[in-house]
Amino acid sequence: MNPPFDTESLVAHARGLDAADPLRSFRDAFVVDDPELIYLDGNSLGRLPIRTDERVRQVVSEEWGTRLVNGWGDGWIDLPRRLGGKIAGLIGALPEEVIVCDSTSVNLYKLAMAALDGRPGRSKVLTDASNFPSDVYILAGCAAQTGRELIVVEPDELASSLDRDTALVSASHVAFKSGAIADMVSVTDAAHTVGALTLWDLSHSVGALPINLNAASVDLAIGCTYKYLNGGPGSPAFLFVRKELQDELVSPIRGWFGQADAFAFGLEYTPAPGLDRFLAGTPPILSMAAIEAGVDLVIEVGIDRLRAKSVAQTEFLVRLWQALLEPLQVSLNSPVDPGRRGSHVSIGHPNAFQIDQALIHEKNVIPDFRCPDSIRFGVTPLYTTFEQLAKAILRTRSVIEDGSYRRYSPEPSRVT
Ligand SMILES: *Cc1c(COP(=O)(O)O)cnc(C)c1O
Repeated sequence: MNPPFDTESLVAHARGLDAADPLRSFRDAFVVDDPELIYLDGNSLGRLPIRTDERVRQVVSEEWGTRLVNGWGDGWIDLPRRLGGKIAGLIGALPEEVIVCDSTSVNLYKLAMAALDGRPGRSKVLTDASNFPSDVYILAGCAAQTGRELIVVEPDELASSLDRDTALVSASHVAFKSGAIADMVSVTDAAHTVGALTLWDLSHSVGALPINLNAASVDLAIGCTYKYLNGGPGSPAFLFVRKELQDELVSPIRGWFGQADAFAFGLEYTPAPGLDRFLAGTPPILSMAAIEAGVDLVIEVGIDRLRAKSVAQTEFLVRLWQALLEPLQVSLNSPVDPGRRGSHVSIGHPNAFQIDQALIHEKNVIPDFRCPDSIRFGVTPLYTTFEQLAKAILRTRSVIEDGSYRRYSPEPSRVT
């Protein structure tokens, strides 16, 4: 059913959808400093859960402040595994297959190098052009450091580009720009047919859509905790290694936290059994502590309910785009089929950067801009309302129609 498109009835219609939303009360679990702000960038940095605010204060003043080094024995040392075990439930993995540590970029490096080491005699690493650029840089670096070649193909050519020279295929599960969902099952099957390993980046899908790594027989995966898991700026990432591979692969960063007996202080490195070998150094406890409440909220709501609301909300955005923005020469840069779309909708316009700036500075809407011509509207079902989506599209239409975006320089700033 199409919503009504005149401003007043549209906003009233959106309010009706919010009133009927079974997840509406979860918004109260977050710090909302400005209730008028329309925050559609939860796919870049999630909001602060109220319980995280409390937990971080407690870790600082009670645990660090009073327990000092005893904090390690009180539970800090287990945080990478304990948090990993919780995230495992969201991605179809066993608790002992996921660990929280380092950044997504560093984890990608560790797992890609371990995979390449585990597949000697194969000359290629494969990725696709919709992957996150940082991932492509890292994969290119790993290929160069191990005397291999990185092949970059179109997203729908991944499966057909695999051959017996391929050591590793690595791709994003949901593309950061378009929000398109990759066919994890087919690509993983095709990789296994030729004996290659697979490494998926779940940064834009974890906490937003159901993922079943074990059902897809995925070998390796990594992902962010500061996007849909609301873990805070720069919060540590997670990594997944399929159980059967854990004792076969070795981290290229041989730190004491990955050593079989870190506190024996021997000078020979023996990788710890299981996933612990992928730890490098001391975990950043303050940042780790900030992850848990956000993960707990996602678990509490349930990924299927989150996905159902996310699909309803991105469908709503697509209908509004079609009625209100397409006539203004704004393109849809995301898949039309909701089954192929993650939790954000990208629209395109030659002046996208300026429109994004006008929305932020004049309209109290925060989407984000992605070079060269996309604006992403991120839907975070835990706290995004239909009313906000309706207003965001109406305001986008108004800055395009009245030309107010022209007041902004077309030169992108450093962080967008
Ligand atoms: C956000 C994101 C990253 C971020 O990596 P960092 O190491 O945290 O900077 C990596 N890959 C993808 C696909 C992302 O979306």
